[in-house]
Amino acid sequence: MLSLESPYCNATERIPTNSRILVVEDEELIRSMIVLNLTEEGYEVIEAESGKEALNILENRAQNNPDERIDLIILDLMLPEVNGLDVCRFLRYQGNHVPILILSAKAGETDRVLGLEIGADDYMTKPFSMKELIARCRALLRRVALNCNYPTFPTVRQYKDITLFPDECRVIVRGKEVNLSPKEFRLLELFMTYPKRVWEREQLIQQVWGPDFVGEAKTVDVHIRWLREKLEVDPSNPEYIVTVRGFGYRFG
Ligand code: CA
Repeated sequence: MLSLESPYCNATERIPTNSRILVVEDEELIRSMIVLNLTEEGYEVIEAESGKEALNILENRAQNNPDERIDLIILDLMLPEVNGLDVCRFLRYQGNHVPILILSAKAGETDRVLGLEIGADDYMTKPFSMKELIARCRALLRRVALNCNYPTFPTVRQYKDITLFPDECRVIVRGKEVNLSPKEFRLLELFMTYPKRVWEREQLIQQVWGPDFVGEAKTVDVHIRWLREKLEVDPSNPEYIVTVRGFGYRFG
């Protein structure tokens, strides 16, 4: 588990050039160019060739060298094994707020917006100016050192080890993505938006199937059963979607 603690909050006058930067880039030429320039600027630089390697480095440091935490990540998006967006998403899901600068050949507005929405702090497109990259790194590190101003991610819903990304219709359960039907997804989203709330079957039908639904309230039970099979460790003894006798269902 990555640490939630911030190494920045005590640093009111921290000089950013002492910082440690992780460069995640699979193209060796670009990576070595960035590493060389950042090192010349006085930063300690660590390299990763894939998203998976980056996550391993971060996790190992959090566990074995908590005093040598990464202060900033420069993150490519198109990476082998685990792509950059998933790296970013996973870190935020873990509660890790390390500043992330995405450096990507994907220049479209959608990519930029998505990158920033899932928790990146800055976005630069390739080809890029090394001077600008260094200036942006410095600005990010300074901002964090002075303000402890971390981003928040209001759209992502999380409960214990279930994370739901509404904009992307994705759900991750205990680290693995699960496939939900549209109705199952809507049900789960509703539950996770209002944890602990007790829902009657008719209310769930109104919200998920809509007012024009024709059929029996038992339909809800069937979908709940399928959902439990995908979410629960033991579907016959559910921990997430709980039956409230005489009323309906409750999440959490
Ligand atoms: Ca790449």
